[in-house]
Amino acid sequence: MTISAAPRRVGLFGGAFDPPHVAHVALVNAAVSQLALDELRVLPTGHAWHKTRTLSPVEHRLAMANLAFAGLERVVLDTRETRRNGPSYTVDSLREIHLEQPGAELFLVIGEDQARALTTWHEWEEIPKLAIICVATRTYSARAEGQFIAPKAWKSRFCMLQMPLLSVSATDIRSRIASHQGVVPLVGEPVARYIDQHHLYLTA
Ligand code: ATP
Repeated sequence: MTISAAPRRVGLFGGAFDPPHVAHVALVNAAVSQLALDELRVLPTGHAWHKTRTLSPVEHRLAMANLAFAGLERVVLDTRETRRNGPSYTVDSLREIHLEQPGAELFLVIGEDQARALTTWHEWEEIPKLAIICVATRTYSARAEGQFIAPKAWKSRFCMLQMPLLSVSATDIRSRIASHQGVVPLVGEPVARYIDQHHLYLTA
């Protein structure tokens, strides 16, 4: 009798990570445990087509991502998007990982702001065919959008992650640094030290 193994559960979590912060780490931990992932691949973006500002050089973002995520169980830093020419499209990474790990169940982990913008993503209709989309709540009281609601037709391809609301953002962290405020509680000691040593984000 052959016992077929359950499919490998692989998560993908993309971001600019400019810099990575405690909410990213909380999201990664929540995803690994709540989705029972075998592996979560953290994918720093190369050219972020959806961000209006120029990102910090990739070597700094990778070094910080390494400091922020490397020690976490089941988490792998995946640099493919930083090596790709042209814009970083999530659908391309999903397709590549789908080919590399045939049979694996893929989970795309995103914050609520990104979930809301999903229909602006390149080939967005392909994404739920390739992965289950797992959304972490990110509703600030200052914003009035209300909670993200998945399109009805896609219900079975979405899930919500349970995570405390953390109103931290990389934008806020950069502006704190530019105004010489401490950020250790927001990014952790190793990333804060790296930012300091490399004089990052001193101008807003
Ligand atoms: P920026 O402020 O520069 O736009 P960011 O803080 O949103 O950056 P990103 O690297 O763009 O950080 O985010 C990567 C992923 O993490 C996205 O899916 C985003 O929605 C999610 N994310 C970031 N911050 C939070 C948060 N506080 N709560 C939940 N999800 C978050």
